Amino acid sequence: MSNADKVALVTGAARGIGAAIAHKLAALGHPVVVADVLEEREATAAAIRAAGGEARAIALDVAEDAAVAGLPTALGPWWERLGILVNNAGISPKGPDGKARPIREMPAEEWRRVLAVNLTGAFLVSQACLPPLRARRWGRIIMLTSQAARAKSQIAGAHYTAAKSGLMGFARSLATELGPDGITVNSIAPGRIDTPMARGTTEGANAAFAVNIPLGRLGTPEDVAEVAAFLASEAAGYLTGATLDVGGGSYMP
Ligand code: NAD
Repeated sequence: MSNADKVALVTGAARGIGAAIAHKLAALGHPVVVADVLEEREATAAAIRAAGGEARAIALDVAEDAAVAGLPTALGPWWERLGILVNNAGISPKGPDGKARPIREMPAEEWRRVLAVNLTGAFLVSQACLPPLRARRWGRIIMLTSQAARAKSQIAGAHYTAAKSGLMGFARSLATELGPDGITVNSIAPGRIDTPMARGTTEGANAAFAVNIPLGRLGTPEDVAEVAAFLASEAAGYLTGATLDVGGGSYMP
C-alpha cells in the first residue's frame, strides 16, 4: 500500500502538535483528516492543501459518543482507506493564575472533562476506527500521552496526569489486542512543547522547565511530528506498545 492509500485521522489537529503531525503526514503523501472542535481546523486543512497535500477538516468532539459514531459518514469514501489514527486531542485546564488547580480545589466537573477528552476520547475514537483498520490488517495508532505520565509534573494538574497515565495503560492493552491484526499502537510522551497549550501556563514555569532540558530548549510541534511520522511508517512495523519520550532529554527513565 502506498501512503496515498493510508488515510490519516488526526484528532485535535487544528493547531499545535496535531497540526504539525497533519502537515507532516500530508507531506509524506497521506490524505489527512483534520478533526477538531475549533473552527481553525478549516484553515489548517486549507494550509495543507496549499502546500500540495490532501486534507479535509471535520468537526469532532472526541468526548461526544454521537460525534464519534458519525466518523464513517464524516469521512465518506476515505473511511475504508483509513490506516493511521493519531489520538492527539487533549486539554490541560489551569486556574486564572496560569497554574493547575490543587486537588483540594479542583471542581469534579473539571476532573471529569479532562478524563473525558484525554482518556475516554482516545478510547471512543480508537474503538470506532477499528473496523477499517482490522479489515485491511494494517494500521498505526499513535497516542499523545505526556511526560506528566512518566514522572511527576509541577505544571499539569492531577486530572491531566491521571488521564495521560490511563492513556498509557490503554495503549498497552490496545497494542496487545491488536497485534494479531497487524495494527501497532505506540505512544509519544512529549516533554514541554511550545504550543498554545504550553503557553497557557506562567512564563516562569516554562523557563524553569527549560533549565532542566539537556538539549537546552523547549520542543517544537515539528520535533514531535517527525517522531509521529516514524511511528506511522512501514519502518516502525515491529514496534508496538512502546512509549517514545520526546523531551530533549528532560525525562530519562
Ligand atoms: P493545543 O491546546 O495547542 O492543541 C490541542 C488541540 O486539541 C486543539 O486544537 C484543541 O481544540 C483540540 N481539542 C481539545 N479538546 C478537543 C475535543 N474534545 N475534541 C477534539 N479536539 C479537541 O495542545 P498541544 O500542546 O498541541 O497538545 C497536543 C497533545 O499533546 C495533547 O494531547 C497534549 O496533552 C499533549 N502534550 C502536549 C505537551 C506540550 O508541552 N504542549 C506536552 C505533553 C503532551
